[in-house]
Amino acid sequence: MKTLGLIGGMSWESTLPYYRFINEAVGRRLGGLHSAKLVLYSVDFAEIERMQRDDAWDEAGAHLADAARTLESAGASLIVLCTNTMHKVAEAIEASVAIPLLHIADATGVAVRQAGLRRVGLLGTRFTMEQAFYRDRLQARHGLDVIVPDEADRDTVHRVIYEELCRGRFLDAARTEFCAIIQKLVDGGAEAIILGCTEIGLLVRADDVTVPLFDTARLHAEHAVAVALDVRPEG
Ligand code: GLU
Repeated sequence: MKTLGLIGGMSWESTLPYYRFINEAVGRRLGGLHSAKLVLYSVDFAEIERMQRDDAWDEAGAHLADAARTLESAGASLIVLCTNTMHKVAEAIEASVAIPLLHIADATGVAVRQAGLRRVGLLGTRFTMEQAFYRDRLQARHGLDVIVPDEADRDTVHRVIYEELCRGRFLDAARTEFCAIIQKLVDGGAEAIILGCTEIGLLVRADDVTVPLFDTARLHAEHAVAVALDVRPEG
């Protein structure tokens, strides 16, 4: 089993389920007392959020590249960046280490296509919903047709992520709002929804909606285990 190197803490609320998803997947694969070999570098999310707000992406890239180098020297063979948004600086991280970074959009894109789906609604931070680094990768590498909420709904989703979900607040009012936004995407033709923010799976569950949900945190974690064990993805 290869040792995973997790860059977490963005927010720590979603790093907890990552740890559980990874260990549960190893348990399903290997059974018995097996658990994952991993090293975790957990950042202070307030520092990262300040860099996002200040548009200081080079600084953020350098910060996470440092984290990746630390994980590499601690024995990690693969980097798992436990956030969608910060994949905006994936190239800076990749350039700083000799070990591969397992891109969250690839784990997700492959799962959507394996399910035979193509037209997806995407929820996440404004950065993820609006910028090329994420949507283009889903479209160009995985052939997905990605639709996003309108401006006002993107605002709601972004605000709830930073003001509630990343602070451990999972409220019924927000769940109701997210479900209404998802329904609008479904009415607009979405066959499935990508939870493109690692905390959204803690708020919205499969039973709350009428189309399949693709939880990026779970898919990324399970993909990382498949690569670490050199086995095929779970079907
Ligand atoms: N965890 C979130 C994501 O998956 C948002 C926090 C962040 O900005 O990294 O994008």
